[in-house]
Parts: sequence; structure tokens; C-alpha cells
Amino acid sequence: MRNRHCKIVSTIGPASSSPSMLQLIHEAGVDVFRLNMSHGQYDKLRGVVTAIRDIQEETGTAMAIFADLQGPKIRTGTFADGSIKLRYGQEYDLVNAKSSDDEGVIPVPHPEVFAALEEGDMIKLDDGKLQMSVVSKEGEHIRARAISSGTLSDRKGINLPGRSLPISALTEKDREDLDFALSLNVDYIALSFVQRAEDVKEARALIGDKAGIISKIEKPQAMDHLDAIIEASDAIMVARGDLGVECPVEEVPIMQRRIIRACRRVGKPVIVATHMLESMVESSAPTRAEASDISTAVNQGADAVMLSAETAVGRHPQTAVAIMDRIITATEKDPETNCYNIFHSEEDHHSTADAVSLSARRITEVLECRFAIAYTNTGSTARRLSRDRPHAPILAATPHADVAQSLSLCWGVKALVTEDISDFREMIDRADKLAAQSGGENGERVVILSGFPFGRSGKTNTLKISRIGTLEDDAD
Ligand code: PGA
Ligand code: MN
Repeated sequence: MRNRHCKIVSTIGPASSSPSMLQLIHEAGVDVFRLNMSHGQYDKLRGVVTAIRDIQEETGTAMAIFADLQGPKIRTGTFADGSIKLRYGQEYDLVNAKSSDDEGVIPVPHPEVFAALEEGDMIKLDDGKLQMSVVSKEGEHIRARAISSGTLSDRKGINLPGRSLPISALTEKDREDLDFALSLNVDYIALSFVQRAEDVKEARALIGDKAGIISKIEKPQAMDHLDAIIEASDAIMVARGDLGVECPVEEVPIMQRRIIRACRRVGKPVIVATHMLESMVESSAPTRAEASDISTAVNQGADAVMLSAETAVGRHPQTAVAIMDRIITATEKDPETNCYNIFHSEEDHHSTADAVSLSARRITEVLECRFAIAYTNTGSTARRLSRDRPHAPILAATPHADVAQSLSLCWGVKALVTEDISDFREMIDRADKLAAQSGGENGERVVILSGFPFGRSGKTNTLKISRIGTLEDDAD
């Protein structure tokens, strides 16, 4: 049983895709696995999903998997030697081509780029590490001056800050990748470069109820439609990598805080992503600033924090996860932490289910409950309780494996697959067993939430306080 509420998402790549490494990083703390469709090969990805589901079977821990679609990411083509050197002050030609064997030519196989760019525009390459400025443009031929030096290698990202490109949120490649990902029964699909709620709705029309949708906020334009995007999505990712290229870097922490607040207000899970332990791609220990960054995200109320290159291609995937786990745990234990704060206004929530959930939160505090146990068919009772940030781990008991898997992204939830209950005694008995299995001790209090009559979805209306192991007596 994990000893923390905030979840860890790990990106799988060459450094972590073997069954043994997947097992190790899961033991170290990974709750949710991210497959990056930008790089993944289908047969490799299929193997990873099988291995994760095997671990789930063996350990009885439900885990979510999400496929992250590349989206309309613009990339350079390829160079004869795999890269060229950009020299400060030197001019280069950008041409609409897939590859180039000329040192002075950068291939950019996207006609939209040539249509959008204007003289004086800034071009950012390789996640903003390299920059160029447009000197002149003639049709699909652009001359640009390097304003930084460095190596530009094959298929590096290109960002045009401030320019909106007329590209659909789902490219041809995305549609193919989406079909493939759905055939693997992933729990969520992540959409890159979402700009408005319509992008999410377009994807929803294709995905239906086969998977949840995580919208990645990585374009400044998305901030103008943030609430509508959140409303249309099942979860949100603060994608700081591209966000920090598209916007001035000083804006990123402010946007992070705003996005988390907006998600917390409506109780949608939010993931903070990118560069959280970046130095650990090489190093075996994090910088103090990185430790502080994770702690800040936890304090702000993030449901999950994410590792990217650290676990995908880094030298210390397992250590990175273990350190992230320790930082989260320490922050959550601090008596001055803000991570249990409720950000939604209680007046906005008048339903019976809302009232039961908020009361359960209060009860966990007053009685120092060991667990809050939620019987849930669709997952909504557990998600609502997670939104209310109780001071006890949430055990979500559901008969559906897919519901259990998707709940693993939510703050504080440990989901367990178990048969439906049919009467009150069974509800208490089952809760007793689940609590004991998860490390609860005899005599410790739990609060149980369910919907009566049992076995129907949607109506949380029942709350019972019990003590583990003394359920026969009418325990106080
Ligand atoms: P990416 O998204 O890693 O797919 O680019 C995350 C980010 O941009 O931060
Ligand atoms: Mn991105």
C-alpha cells in the first residue's frame, strides 16, 4: 500500500520498457504509465501494455495506461549526417522538404509553416534550445538567421511562438495511433496542443466511451478557453515543456498555478509534467530546485506529477521514481501542507452525493479514520471523494476492472476490483476485508460510502462508520 495521495506518472521508453524494469519502477512508486506515440513502435508498445497488465494481475494493483498522441507537432526533416551545426549569426535556408544533404539547408516538411511565417518572426527549435529569426520569405523558401549556436539533429520540434497554424488537432498519424491505442484498451488518450474545447469534442467523437481524455495544455491560446477545455475533458496535463517554448518561461509557473486551480475547482484530475527531475536523466540525485518543484506541485493540489525523459531514456529510472515518491510523501506529511485544501466552493455542491462526500471528508479528519471506502460502479463516488481531499486513503471498491484502472490517476484513490454488494451486512463485511488487506489494523475506524439500493449507479446516499474487525458488535 502506497503511503501517499499524489500519484506518479511515468513515461515508458527504451530505459523502462522491459518487463523487469516496469516491475521495478512500479514497485518504486509508478501508478500510471504513459506511452508516447511520437516515438513508439507498435509491437514494442503492445509488449509494454501486456507486461503492465501482467504486473497488475500479479500484484492486484489497478494501474492506468495512457497513450499520448503527438498532435500537430511540427518537426524538422532529416539531415545527411543526422544533424547540422547552427552557428550564431549565420543564415540558413528553410525549405519544404523531407530531407536535405546540404549543410546550409534545414528541411521542414510542413507547408503550413511557410504560409504562417513572416519576416521578423522567431522560430524555436529543439524545445526552444535553438532560435532563429526570419530574414526573408519567398513562397516555400525562407531565409533565417541563427541567434544561438548548437547542434540541430533529425526530427527536432519546431515552435512558432505567437502563430496559430491551421492544422487539425488530430493529424493522420494521430488517427492511426488512436485506433491502435484503443485496440490495446488503454484507459486514457492524451491530446497534444489542444487549443479549444472543440478539439476535445472532435476526439471524443472518435473515442466514445472507450477511453478517457487527458487534454494537454501547452499552447497559450488554450488558456483563453481553459474552463471549457476542462469541462470537455476527463483530466488535464500542465505540459510545461511546450508551454515554456510557446510562452515566455516566466509565465509557466503562473499558468501552472492557474490551471491547477481551475481543475481543482471542478474536481478534474490534473497532472503536472515535464522537467520535474530533468537532471536525473544523467545524475543519480536531483537538484534542490527540482525537489522544490515537485513539492510545490503537490502543495498546489496536483493529482499527479509526471516523469518524462527521466524514466523513458534516463540512466536512473527507478531512482528517479523513488526520489519523486519520497518528495511527495514528505510534503504531504508536513502539517503546514496545503494539499488537503478544498478549492471548490461548498455552496456549489448541493446534491446528496456531494453532501455525503464532504461529510466523509470531515469524518476522516475528526475520527482519524484509517480509510474512506467507496463502493462505486462508474467511479464517480470515488472521484467525488478524491475531489474533496479526505485525510485518509480512499479505497474504491468496484466490480469493473476498467473503472479501477482509470481511478488510479485520481489523488488518494486505491482502486480494488471486487464483486458488487447486495446487502448492508455484505457492504460492511467486504469493507472490513478490503481495509485489512490494505494494511488496516483491528479497531481502526473506516468510513464507508455507498448508494442504496445497492448495485445501481450514480446515487451516493449512504455513509457508515465502522471499526475494522469489530463489525459484529455495533461499534461506535
Ligand atoms: P510532450 O508533452 O512531452 O509530449 O511534448 C509534454 C510537454 O510538452 O510538456
Ligand atoms: Mn508537448
